[in-house]
Amino acid sequence: MAKKKKATKKKVAKKKVAKKKVAKKKVAKKKVAKKKVAKKKTGSDQRMHDSLLELIRVTSTVIPDDVQKVILEALKREEKNTNAEYAMNIIKKNIELAKTKSQPMCQDTGTILIYVNHPRGFDQSSFNKILKKAVVKATKLGYLRQNSVDTLTGKNETMNIGAGHPSVHFHEWGKGQVEIKCMLKGGGCENVGAQYDLPNTNLEAGRDLDGVRKVILDAVHKAQGKGCGPGILGITIGGDRGSGFIESKEQLLRKLDDKNSNAELAKLEKDIVETSNKLGIGPMGFGGKTTLLGCKIGVLNRLPASYFVTISYMCWAYRRQGVSLKKDNTIQKWVY
Ligand code: SF4
Repeated sequence: MAKKKKATKKKVAKKKVAKKKVAKKKVAKKKVAKKKVAKKKTGSDQRMHDSLLELIRVTSTVIPDDVQKVILEALKREEKNTNAEYAMNIIKKNIELAKTKSQPMCQDTGTILIYVNHPRGFDQSSFNKILKKAVVKATKLGYLRQNSVDTLTGKNETMNIGAGHPSVHFHEWGKGQVEIKCMLKGGGCENVGAQYDLPNTNLEAGRDLDGVRKVILDAVHKAQGKGCGPGILGITIGGDRGSGFIESKEQLLRKLDDKNSNAELAKLEKDIVETSNKLGIGPMGFGGKTTLLGCKIGVLNRLPASYFVTISYMCWAYRRQGVSLKKDNTIQKWVY
């Protein structure tokens, strides 16, 4: 009987040891799996960082094809040996030099605007951290000038990182892919943006498309040479004051040669460019035939009590680029 008890005890002890071994193995396996996940995430984060850095570099140094095309057309249009032709030639040379030397095409590398289209489950806070690192690196490498300052002190100590900078806009979409667009918007052209509240009695502008046309042309006239024209307008009709400006900048993400799906707005966009180019303001305000290179108009719902027309003005240094990413966060293709 004593022998039997001893054998049973041994069996139980053995079982316990075996159980412990299994548990240990499980913990070890979990650790390895965790390490693997962490390694994968680090690699994926690094690739996102590198893709963002390249996106910023290209945005700052290479003008998109659709913009280059209209700039060269404008240069051809200007009369020989005029200030306008001279200004357009300087713009052309700046663009070529920036691309060859991989240097910013203007000393003002502007507000950094980032637009992210992403699928459900995208980690926005981790993206923001990676983006900030990429912006600091881009600033150190000279792709961006260090020109975002603390508003109250005027000091510039943060390598383009600070409250509201860069400005990031996330949009969840139905596709499985991540698409990131970057726009660098200079301060000079931002200063000549405007918002009108219709009706405007001074301009005899009512709450209709004719009124909209009047206030847009007023903004172009007021900008004159300021804002480094020839310019491109991004416009919102409607919305509230805040959404109007956000949407007007998103209009600047459209390709210059696209056509508005609303026939009336397509007509208005064309008319605004043609009429502005007859105002004689010209490149940099030197006179000539090219005051605007493009105009893009969007519409938002509004309240019956208000009717805003919001205008974002972009300078000739129309820096916007975009990338679609592969699953591993490397660049699959360029948008513009
Ligand atoms: S408005 Fe544009 S072109 Fe003019 S200084 Fe600023 S970024 Fe440069």
